[in-house]
Amino acid sequence: DFLALAVPGVQKLSPYVTGKPIDELARELGIDPAQIVKLASNENPLGPSLKVLEAIRAELPELTRYPDGSGYVLKQKLSERFGLSPELITLGNGSNDIIDIVARAYLAPGLNAVFSAHAFAAYPICTQAVGAESRVVPAIDYGYDLDGLIKAIDDHTRVLFLANPNNPTGTWFGAEALEQFLSRVPAHVLVVLDEAYIEFSEPGELPNGLDYLDRYPNLLVSRTLCKAYGLAGLRVGYAASSAQIADVLNRVRQPFNVNSLALVAACAALDDTDYLAAGRRLNSAGMAQLEAGLRELGLAWIPSKGNFIAVDFGRDAAPINAGLLREGVIVRPIAGYGMPTFLRVSIGTEQENARFLEALSKVLASA
Ligand code: PMP
Repeated sequence: DFLALAVPGVQKLSPYVTGKPIDELARELGIDPAQIVKLASNENPLGPSLKVLEAIRAELPELTRYPDGSGYVLKQKLSERFGLSPELITLGNGSNDIIDIVARAYLAPGLNAVFSAHAFAAYPICTQAVGAESRVVPAIDYGYDLDGLIKAIDDHTRVLFLANPNNPTGTWFGAEALEQFLSRVPAHVLVVLDEAYIEFSEPGELPNGLDYLDRYPNLLVSRTLCKAYGLAGLRVGYAASSAQIADVLNRVRQPFNVNSLALVAACAALDDTDYLAAGRRLNSAGMAQLEAGLRELGLAWIPSKGNFIAVDFGRDAAPINAGLLREGVIVRPIAGYGMPTFLRVSIGTEQENARFLEALSKVLASA
C-alpha cells in the first residue's frame, strides 16, 4: 500500500485541482475548443505580449544550451525595475516554486507553518510534503484574522504564509494592518508575503511588500510573472528577501529551475509596461462588468482586488458548475478551499465575461 507508505502529512493531502482542460471539455461536448470559455485559472485574457513573443523567437536557436542557472540578466532587470540588489532575489519556476523552496529550506517534521483558512492550496501541499504541520487559522468573513495568525505562532513555527490579495477569496489588507502585523511577528518566523496578484490593483492601492524589506529581515515577498504579465505557461516568479534568506533559498533551489525561454520572456514582459497597464484596465472593466451582471442575477460575491471573483450561490455550487460546463464555460469550484457554495470566476475579456453571465443566467433559470 504505497499510500500508507507515503509520509503522514502527504497521506492527508488531496491533489491540487487545476481548471478542466479546454480540449477535454470540447471533446466531451463535441464542439470546437474555440467555443469554450475558460475562466478558471486566473490567467491573463490579453494573450501574450508581442514583445515577449519576439524575445522567445530570438532565444529559440539557443535551446540546446542549459539556461543561465543564476538568472543573471533577469535579476539585473528586476534589480533595476524594483531597486533591489540582485543578491536579494531568488528566481522560481512560478511563485509556486518559491513556496516550495521556502518549505524545503525552513520546514521539517516537528516544525509548522501558519496560514489562514481559504488560503492558496500550495501552502499545505508544500508544508506537508516536507513532513511539517499546517496550522490553519479560521478566517473572519473570508478575510484574514491577522491577530489569529499571530496567536497561532509557537516556538516550532518557522514560516507564515499570507497572500495580499488572497486567492481564492480576493480579500486584502492595507498598509497599516501589514505594518502592525509584521511588527508583531516573532523574529524566528519567516513571513512569506505572497503578492501573486498585486499588479492588478492600482499602484498605491495595496501596500507594496518590497517597501517593508529594509525594516523586517524575516520578510520574503513573493511575486510572479504568470498573472498580470501573462506568462502562466512559461512558469516564472521571484522572491525578494534579505540577502541571507536568499542565500539559503539558493542552496536548495534546483539549479536550472527557470528555463531559458522563461528567462528571456520575463525580461521582455517587465519592459512591456503598456501590456501591464492594458491588463489592469481590462481587469477593472471586467470586474465591473461581472459585478453588474451578478447584481442583476441577485447573486452575492466577495469584493476582490485580484483578477477573479468568488461568487456565493448560497447552496451547493457543484450543480451550477456542472450546468456551466454543459454550456461550455469552465470556472473553478472551490469546495476544496472550504467554500462549497462558491465558484471562483477569473476576469476574462468583455466577450468571455458576457458568455459566462449568459450561461449562468441560463443555468440558474433551469435549476
Ligand atoms: N500564490 C497565489 C496566491 C496564487 O493564487 C498562485 C496561482 N494560483 C500562485 C501563488 C502561484 O502562481 P505561479 O506559480 O503561477 O506563479
